Amino acid sequence: MARNQITSHVVVETEHYGSNQSAIVGSEAVALVDAPHLPTDALSWGHYASQLGPVQYLINSDHHPDHTIGNRFLPGTIVAHAETRHRLETEPPSLQYLKDLLGRLDPGKDCLLEDYSVRLPTILVENTLQLFLGDVHLELRAQRGHTRNNVLTYLPEDGVLFTGDIVCEAGLPSFQDSRLQDWFDALDVVEAYDFEHIVPGHGKVTDRAGVQRYRNWGREIVGQVSRRLAQGQQYEQILAEVRFEDNIHVETSTSAGYPHELIESFQLRSIERIVTDLREFPELSDR
Ligand SMILES: [Zn+2]
Repeated sequence: MARNQITSHVVVETEHYGSNQSAIVGSEAVALVDAPHLPTDALSWGHYASQLGPVQYLINSDHHPDHTIGNRFLPGTIVAHAETRHRLETEPPSLQYLKDLLGRLDPGKDCLLEDYSVRLPTILVENTLQLFLGDVHLELRAQRGHTRNNVLTYLPEDGVLFTGDIVCEAGLPSFQDSRLQDWFDALDVVEAYDFEHIVPGHGKVTDRAGVQRYRNWGREIVGQVSRRLAQGQQYEQILAEVRFEDNIHVETSTSAGYPHELIESFQLRSIERIVTDLREFPELSDR
């Protein structure tokens, strides 16, 4: 556990396996950003958060399982992009997928998945939305980036921006649901905010330099693919040879990590995405 109070209203947990969680504690209500990946972590995070005040909202930054599986175990009305609800409703991870994955990541907790279904968002963000917590408020914004349905959450009173996977500090996440154009546009949007702290989707709380570093990682992998395309390399060769470091789904001291085949499929789908977008929009190699 690493529950850090980063401002007078914000506590961030960055050491749960799978994704970061935040609690924004206002004088009248508490809002949470993202749900833990592992049911065990979700139960303890929910217990902790409830002691901070009445948990009124739980914001999902996107629909991916590492940010939404824990919805079921946490209090609060779920707030997310309209398309996050749609995707969780129409293409939820199968129970077998969750049992296989969580059997590895959170062993011995199968009982928590009996009758499991993901708890859906009921307040939907189409463009912007404000949530009032008493002495502070949150400004949510629908933003294409890591997925088509990301939500940025901004706490102007404390200068904190919760980016979900639009910015990661731990390394690059999967690109499989991104369009490259959106990926870079979203970083421009992030940089235009007035903030002191960035709470990323994965990794430590960071700042403006962290956003720049993240942009450079993206440029680096896009540059690699772009140079290969310029040399006339075939799709298959690029897919077979280009990889980026995955620091998000790998084994840690506390978790067995994702199975190798799944990590490999994230890589392949991500590189495929970059190749496809660069072929259509070669100028993206200059972003
Ligand atoms: Zn994520």
